[in-house]
Amino acid sequence: MSEKVERERIRGAAYLADYPADKIIVECEQCGWRAQFDKAAMIEAGGDRPMTHLLDDIARRKGCTRVALDMNDIKNHCRARYVNIDPKPSDYAKAKGV
Ligand SMILES: [Zn+2]
Repeated sequence: MSEKVERERIRGAAYLADYPADKIIVECEQCGWRAQFDKAAMIEAGGDRPMTHLLDDIARRKGCTRVALDMNDIKNHCRARYVNIDPKPSDYAKAKGV
């Protein structure tokens, strides 16, 4: 272990600052919500964070109760995801025509 361990980035993790778009769009088809955030404003408000942590945060704030479920419970687990870096159209998007 080295002495300079001060809040280094987790190796290989994607961080908020790396997000390829200025707007961050998140949706959960399981719970039926969609939200858009400004990347710069988010970094300003909460600092740069790994995107997986952020996704859970957003989902919880949106009232997703399924975030806390066992990850192995795929059928019921929250499906929050970054829409604009995952080009696969979701059922939610198809249903809502967005
Ligand atoms: Zn959810």
